[in-house]
Parts: sequence; structure tokens; C-alpha cells
Amino acid sequence: MTFDELELNHELLDAISYMGFKEPSPIQEKAIPEILNGKDIIACAQTGTGKTAAFLLPVLHALIENPSDHTKVLIIVPTRELAVQIDQQIQGIAYFSEIDSVTVYGGGEGSDFTDQKKALSTGTNIVVATPGKLISHLNMGYVDFSQLSHLILDEADRMFDMGFQDDIQKILSSLPEKRQTLLFSATMEDRIRTFARTFLTDPVEFNLALAKPAAGVTQRVYLVYDQQKTPLIAKFLKVRSEYQSILIFTSNKSRVREIIRELKNADIEAHGISSDYEQSEREGVLLKFRARKIKVLVGTDVVSRGIDIKDINMVINYDVPNDAADYVHRVGRTARAATKGEALTLVNEADMRKFSRIEKLIDMDLEKQEPPISLGDGPVWSLKHSSGGKKPFRKKK
Ligand code: AMP
Repeated sequence: MTFDELELNHELLDAISYMGFKEPSPIQEKAIPEILNGKDIIACAQTGTGKTAAFLLPVLHALIENPSDHTKVLIIVPTRELAVQIDQQIQGIAYFSEIDSVTVYGGGEGSDFTDQKKALSTGTNIVVATPGKLISHLNMGYVDFSQLSHLILDEADRMFDMGFQDDIQKILSSLPEKRQTLLFSATMEDRIRTFARTFLTDPVEFNLALAKPAAGVTQRVYLVYDQQKTPLIAKFLKVRSEYQSILIFTSNKSRVREIIRELKNADIEAHGISSDYEQSEREGVLLKFRARKIKVLVGTDVVSRGIDIKDINMVINYDVPNDAADYVHRVGRTARAATKGEALTLVNEADMRKFSRIEKLIDMDLEKQEPPISLGDGPVWSLKHSSGGKKPFRKKK
């Protein structure tokens, strides 16, 4: 199928060709005609599938066909990073049209709030917002959503995990009932489907989840004690000196700075990103990492979802993610678009059970390697003693 066959208006077709999109991705093929037909949809799709353009193209098509000075589209997302990234795609796709957009998220400077207020009061066509900050504006009374035609919820599962359900409910109550609603989620548990059905009308459902890491990723697993982790990473990075982009994940944001310090002691310069960092710092680091001015980035799962950085050579799981699906997201940062990549996961005794759950999810039995001899023996693979991340229950004496 070609984009021409989707019958999108020429401003969009020009932008698509300018952006180098040659043909629609599977989710775009499925979702765009349904959205153009006015259907509500629930789509299970992850970052990297082209899901953002799958909802932006038909929604922008509708906006171009019916120009308006009002706010017509609201996109709710869990994180600032995702908001910025979606806005960047809007800038690209709307390049040849008159559509304007604003991002609404916290953590910026005071002047940002004033700018957001101005855009929301005057009616910007598309609002991309995180729930908390949008509610702050809604509470002030100047946001007018009365002409809204489209609501999009992106990364719905992540918003659930972050406890935004009540906020979303509140936002829903400020929107017109007659609208088109599109919900995207990387995973589709019953709780999300059940919630979605309370505010979607007769939705069409798609499932395009990537259940397994891409075939181009070489997955390596090492059984290690905590003190062996950084020396092992240092060894890997020395051997792979040609690698330009390495992403190290930890589930624990308080460990980010610690890992950076440990790497520094091993002569490896690394930078960090987590919700503990200032917004401007996070944006600066991401820009530099994208531009390959930073080689090693240490981050939490905030960066594993939603953030599209091309050509990452290696993903290192400093620890095993709590949610098995996050492994797929983390590893999915490498070997994008049919290239090759490497994923290294460091599993200590406590994480062994969690890791075996990941193997079940991806339906793979991965070889567990011992650390190199120079680092000493590592723990032996066993599911008996690992706690799966939870502390064992102790009886009070
Ligand atoms: P997403 O899944 O929305 O995060 O998109 C992942 C990346 O794929 C983004 O960099 C998009 O610009 C890009 N992309 C989206 N649709 C297409 C397409 N049809 N052809 C090529 N690249 C695309």
C-alpha cells in the first residue's frame, strides 16, 4: 500500500515524502482508514511501529479539511519527553499546513506556564499535554475545549502505572461527549480495556504489539554479583570502542548518579537522565545523545518508552526491569528498523526470578554466561533463592 492510496490531503503527502516515509507501516495501514472514517480505536502498539504518525496523519487530515481557530485535538501522554517527541512529529507532518500546536507539561521555567496559558486561552489547534499540568490549567478556567473533535491517549498503560487514571477521568469531564477518541497502549491488560470502554464508542481494536525483541538484537545475559556489574560493563565498552551510542538502564532512579560515578572511576564518561534531573538538563542530554556528542547515557525506564533515538548500538540492563514488558521496550531501543544491535543484561541473584518471567514473555530461553575469570565467580542460576525484587517476608519475633 502507498500513502497516496490512503487519500490524505496533499499538504500531508508532501510532508511525508519530505520526511522520507516511503510507505505506511502496518499500524498506519490499519489505523488510518478507520480513523479517517471517524471510528474510535484501541490500538496495542509500541514505539517504533509508527504509531504516532498513525494517529497524527488522519487527525491532521481532518484539521486541514475543516480549518478552525479553536482547540480541536487533545493528545494526553504520560511524560514530558513523549510530549516533546510527538510535538516534533507534528511540526514535521504539519510543515506545509497552517496547523499550530502547543505542549503542556511541568518541570520547565515559570515563563513556560505563561506561554502555555496564552496558547490555551487563544485556542491552539493541537494540545499535547501531560495530565497533571493540564489539570492545573483547567482549574484556572481559561481552557476552552468546547470545540474539541479528537482526543488521543498515548501510552495508556504507562499513564495507568503512573497513577494518572483519576486525572484522565477529570480531563474527560471537561471535553465534549461528541468527539472521536483514540487510545494507544504498549500493552493491553484487561484493566486498560475495561477503562477504555467507559469513554470510547464502539471502538475498533488492533493488536500490533511486538512480543519479542527484533531479530537483529543479540541478547547476552550475564549472572553477576552487584560489585561485578560496572567492571563487566567497562570491559564490554573497551572491546566495543567503535560503538557510538550506548544506553544503560536501571529501574532505580537513585542509582543513575551512582552508576555514572562508578563508570567514571573505570574511565568511562557517562551522562544521566531520570525524573531527578531538571527538565532543561534532560532535554540537553537527550539532544547531545541524539547528536552523538554523548556516547554513554544512563537512564530509567522513562527513556525506554516513547523516546525514539535511532541507531543505538548497545542497550545494557544494569538491572532486570520490574515489568517484563519493559525488557522488550528497553531492548527495543537498539536494532531499530532492521539494523543490528546488542543487548546485555546483568542478572544478580535477586533478579533471577524476574528474568525468568521475561524469558517466558518473549518465549526464549537465553544462555546465561558467567563473568570473565578476571572478575571472579558469579552466582549460579537458581530460581529458589531469588526474591523477584520483593523482600522476603519475615515473621516478627
Ligand atoms: P513511533 O512508533 O511513532 O515512535 O515512530 C517511530 C519512528 O518511525 C519515528 O522516527 C517516525 O518518524 C518513523 N516513522 C513513522 N512512520 C514511518 C513510515 N511510514 N516510514 C518510515 N518511518 C516512519
